[in-house]
Amino acid sequence: MSSTPYDVLVVGSGAAGLTAALTAAEHGASVLMLTKGHAPDSSSWHAQGGIAGAIGDDDTAELHAIDTERAGRELCRQSAVRVLVEEGPERVRELMAFGVPFDPELNLEGGHSRRRVSSVDGAHTGWAITSLLGRRAAATDGIAVREATAVRGLLIVGGRCLGALTPDGPIFARATILAMGGAAALWSRSTNPEGQIGDAVAIGAVAGAAIADMEFMQFHPTVLEGSRLLLTEALRGDGAKLIDEKGERFVDELAPRDEVSRAIVRHGRCFLDLRSIDRDRFPGLMIEIEKSGYDPALVPIPVSPAAHYTIGGIVTDLDALTDVPGLYAAGECAATGVHGANRLASNSLLECLVFGRRAALAALGEPPLPAQIGDVPPTPPERVASQELREQVWLQAGVIRDPGDLAVLATSHDPVAAMVARFAIARAESRGVHYRTDAPIANPVFEGHFVLRPGQGLILEQWT
Ligand SMILES: Cc1cc2nc3c(=O)[nH]c(=O)nc-3n(C[C@H](O)[C@H](O)[C@H](O)COP(=O)(O)OP(=O)(O)OC[C@H]3O[C@@H](n4cnc5c(N)ncnc54)[C@H](O)[C@@H]3O)c2cc1C
Repeated sequence: MSSTPYDVLVVGSGAAGLTAALTAAEHGASVLMLTKGHAPDSSSWHAQGGIAGAIGDDDTAELHAIDTERAGRELCRQSAVRVLVEEGPERVRELMAFGVPFDPELNLEGGHSRRRVSSVDGAHTGWAITSLLGRRAAATDGIAVREATAVRGLLIVGGRCLGALTPDGPIFARATILAMGGAAALWSRSTNPEGQIGDAVAIGAVAGAAIADMEFMQFHPTVLEGSRLLLTEALRGDGAKLIDEKGERFVDELAPRDEVSRAIVRHGRCFLDLRSIDRDRFPGLMIEIEKSGYDPALVPIPVSPAAHYTIGGIVTDLDALTDVPGLYAAGECAATGVHGANRLASNSLLECLVFGRRAALAALGEPPLPAQIGDVPPTPPERVASQELREQVWLQAGVIRDPGDLAVLATSHDPVAAMVARFAIARAESRGVHYRTDAPIANPVFEGHFVLRPGQGLILEQWT
């Protein structure tokens, strides 16, 4: 072996990767955490609204499960939801104990029947959590961190994952945990950092992992035109109005994200009018808007939908184990089935903590590396998403989808873009975040998860 082997290799330094790395190191494992960019290149760093968790006096895990399943439109995997809501409160309390400076009041967000969202300064939750966990990881002896190192493939020997392939050579580990985030930046309009183009799905599929639910991309309706800046739902909750070029309202601002997104796409150019709300409640966001050249006190802000959260990903069990021995996936790159066809707001940071921890605990049980590994394949070339590809994905697999467009996208040279189209073609109905012009309502025939396994076509599975 040419490089020092680790017990656990964690790919990604967002909330899921940090949680997995810290948990594994706490239990004595040697950990290498690799990341393509730097800390702010993760979606976790940019998360705004908060983290859900039934910690209020009037709340229960059961109520949180009901809300999650209602949002997921008959597709949530109930066992995964149970794990999320039952372990969630402890994970949130742990963050409090670590010193995340949560606001004293819990927030109420769309789709939640109780106040259960913990946030920091209104819209700085992701940064507060990620930077604190990042400092803890940097101070932990058992964790080595390597930034600006993209994983381009996985090292599979005899069907088992023994590490990853990078431009600097192979990295060997007893267990590999992918915490590589989503694919939303494959769409030209996106809230995600530019590098979030679904590398986990691309390399996972090549390694033999099953992929599911790739048709479900959640679009956020109110993103500042020409930018990645998300203007949180809380603004609309506080009375901000969506208006058209004539200054007229055309949609219920508090309808679910998918409905608002479709209304905007159908209606044309649209603006978020913040003039009547208490802008002092969102100081950081107001500064960001001003930096972009708009004065929210004077003019309505142009907004449009953008790809935001990837519900699909690498199929895992409840311990984040994929179909490939030794390979785990947690956070946004995993498909646990917990979100069904539509993610409930603020459940994704929670998912990162709950399943990132479970991944690490399960990974500790992987057997030692074999004494001889044999020939290591060369590192594959970098996967690059051109602006042209991102525009194509936006146009052909956007908020409102046409089967003819999807058929063209299915022939894309990019494996993830083609996969999104294939899944969206297979789901010939509209459900949750996936909307088809030719089949605008949900069809009970499709109550299940489309799964792609190596060498097989898409299969609809029931997950319990
Ligand atoms: C603007 C915005 C606001 C949001 N607000 C909220 C919110 O309020 N509440 C909520 O619950 N969720 C929110 N979300 C969603 C949530 O932030 C994400 O789902 C979650 O943070 C994903 O965490 P993760 O650890 O799975 O991935 P990320 O945080 O995206 O981390 C992925 C990591 O993988 C690395 N990586 C990717 N590819 C490679 C590669 N090839 N090689 C090596 N490293 C790689 C990246 O560099 C990064 O470090 C928001 C998302 C965005 C973008």
